[in-house]
Amino acid sequence: QLGTRVPVTSQDEIGSLAHAINDLARDLQRLRESRNEFFANISHELKTPITYLEGYAKVISEELYESEEEKNAYLQIISSEAVRLNRLINDLFELSKMEEGRIELIPEAIDLIPLVESAVAKVERAAAQKGLELEFHTELRQAFVWGDGMRLEQIWINLLDNAIRYTQAGSIRVSIVPLQQQYEVCVQDTGIGIPEEELPYLFERMYRVEKSRSRDYGGTGLGLAIVSKLVELHQGRIDVQSEHGKGTVFSVKLAKHESD
Ligand code: ADP
Repeated sequence: QLGTRVPVTSQDEIGSLAHAINDLARDLQRLRESRNEFFANISHELKTPITYLEGYAKVISEELYESEEEKNAYLQIISSEAVRLNRLINDLFELSKMEEGRIELIPEAIDLIPLVESAVAKVERAAAQKGLELEFHTELRQAFVWGDGMRLEQIWINLLDNAIRYTQAGSIRVSIVPLQQQYEVCVQDTGIGIPEEELPYLFERMYRVEKSRSRDYGGTGLGLAIVSKLVELHQGRIDVQSEHGKGTVFSVKLAKHESD
């Protein structure tokens, strides 16, 4: 049993052996916990695309679209989600071989505008179903950063997924603005908000505001931990501002990549 500890009854060799065994048991326990966390994390990442695949496949098989164009857009989403799933499953195999859950990025120069637009497009139906306004705005013509497109897109899918889940009425606004060295992508909602005292813990794995809250809203407590890890892997920065009962803004800043 990894949880059990050898009682340390003396300060001699037997005592230090007992200490060493206890340290080893503690390390093994931590390893096991981080492995379990890792698998839980991956399951969450897999669930989101599967939901979209199911949803859009149903729309197509039941012919719930209004035009060929709309149908093609849904097929496009299905295809890119399938690609993402494939990538995730590959990562799962690759990563399970490693001792720690380290994600390898495949970075390239990538334009944030179509990337964020694609994330917005994927949650459009979910927002519409709740009667929420969903807007994307930028005055930029392009916004290149250096990063792994699919991973980056996951950031905004998760943030938008939360924004929709934790907003009962009103709007969700997504924007990209240029700063001096960075681009800032904001996801702003008019939802239930987050109490100020909870904000410092928000990005911890499995942290949930008001414990019962995310069960009611169907969350797992992993979305933001994944987001903050992905932002960290891209040397970015994530900030959150929120007013309880009024709404929340998540801001992600990524370094500009000069493409030419
Ligand atoms: P979950 O899957 O439970 O939503 P997350 O890691 O994505 O887990 O978020 C952690 C907690 O932060 C959530 O349980 C929720 O209470 C809170 N939260 C996240 N995003 C928002 C938001 N846009 N508005 C209000 N609360 C939020």
